[in-house]
Amino acid sequence: VGRSSFLIVANRLPVDRVVEQDGTASWRRSPGGLVTAIAPVMQRRHGAWLGWPGAPDEELEPFEQDGMNLISIPLTAEEIELYYEGFSNATLWPLYHDVVAPPVFERSMWEAYRAVNERFARAAAAHAEQGAVVWVQDYQLQLVPAMLRELRPDLRIGFFLHIPFPPVELFWQLPWRRELVQGLLGADLVGFQLPGGAANFRRLCRRLLGVPYKGSEIFLEDRIVRTQAFPISVDFGELDEMVRRPEVVSRAKEIRMELGDPEHVLLGVDRLDYTKGIGQRLEAFGELLKDGRITPGEAVFVQIATPSRERVEEYRRLRDDIELQVGRINGETSEFGSQPIQYFHQSYPKDELAALYLAADVMVVTPLRDGMNLVAKEYVACHHDLNGALVLSEFAGAADELRQAFLVNPYDVEDLKRQMLAAMRATPHELARRMRTMRRRVATYDVDRWASEFLSSLESPSASEPAMS
Ligand code: UDP
Repeated sequence: VGRSSFLIVANRLPVDRVVEQDGTASWRRSPGGLVTAIAPVMQRRHGAWLGWPGAPDEELEPFEQDGMNLISIPLTAEEIELYYEGFSNATLWPLYHDVVAPPVFERSMWEAYRAVNERFARAAAAHAEQGAVVWVQDYQLQLVPAMLRELRPDLRIGFFLHIPFPPVELFWQLPWRRELVQGLLGADLVGFQLPGGAANFRRLCRRLLGVPYKGSEIFLEDRIVRTQAFPISVDFGELDEMVRRPEVVSRAKEIRMELGDPEHVLLGVDRLDYTKGIGQRLEAFGELLKDGRITPGEAVFVQIATPSRERVEEYRRLRDDIELQVGRINGETSEFGSQPIQYFHQSYPKDELAALYLAADVMVVTPLRDGMNLVAKEYVACHHDLNGALVLSEFAGAADELRQAFLVNPYDVEDLKRQMLAAMRATPHELARRMRTMRRRVATYDVDRWASEFLSSLESPSASEPAMS
């Protein structure tokens, strides 16, 4: 197997298996933004992507797809349960999202996390050329940077955390806090969505390990670790082009008709996750109906809740709660022929989502905590008509950039009601003014810019570091 000068290490490979009618299986590139942003760099540098192929015990030889070398890291069913569903999604996910659900602290999960991280690190070490650049992605692989440096001190190692990095006081709960932080410090550059996350991390390093920092640099005994914010984004150009296609435009019109052509279409698009504040926003919408501030025929709330992590206990409970709530609110407020909340526990392709974004007058994004929230940026990218209002939680990373949204505290039901109403009542002039500024931001800081800024920062020497030879 050849070695590469550029490697991406991520929990998942950027492909999904598709089985044709005749039973033959092949791979198709996954729709995510990360792979879109990185694919050009991969092709240019003949890069490799290491990740799990998505099914238990799948042992695959390295293969090529769209000019990328894909190297699969197998996981057993037990590892999926303990490392992925367990430590990644039942421990770290809630811990890093303000503990909005109680994190599970289980030693067996931690052991599996460490073992799987070790496997990723060994595979990366085996596939990297001398002096290669390795970019490790996200919370599932936080031990990889240090493990990899131990094996291959010659590499340039970057890490990017796609979810929030919590305040010291919350992170402190983690029984394995030291190992985890030391894992991240194996990188030359640790990237976060927001400056606040980077600051939390630097403070934690000082409090926990006593290592000093100045500005964005953390001073270890023998080297410097840089920390920096790189807000991730969407492929603005692709979405902007998609919503101008005649079939997407007519699909958007059709969606509105199918909904009974109400005056206001409100939309929520989320994975069914307890961090997304779905219950809070539906409660607020229900109260607006019951208070008589809006009438059932006047407004329809479309909530897409994509199935997610269904084997994790907390997610099963959430699904029951949301479905009970939708049934209760619709039961209390529906009229014959119109249901105020249209709920879909399904997943949609990008062009159908684009039509939905286009059809929606008000996009309601109210997470209790979210690293970025790409849905908010996608909505903005889809509204070249300058129509449409974005109601956005102050607790979403995207709120740092999209200041012209109707910003809301999702814990405050009165504020949710107020902002949703304000969004419905705003004049076209007012909406255009807000949307124009937000579009300029998303168009400038798109996902390509995110990837290229991270990589140029990773490959440039830091201010106080001697230049690389
Ligand atoms: N998405 C999708 N189909 C769906 C629902 C969502 O393709 O039915 C996509 C959506 O377009 C967005 C991503 O899933 O790109 C969700 O990203 P976000 O940052 O909003 O939330 P996350 O799920 O990463 O927490």
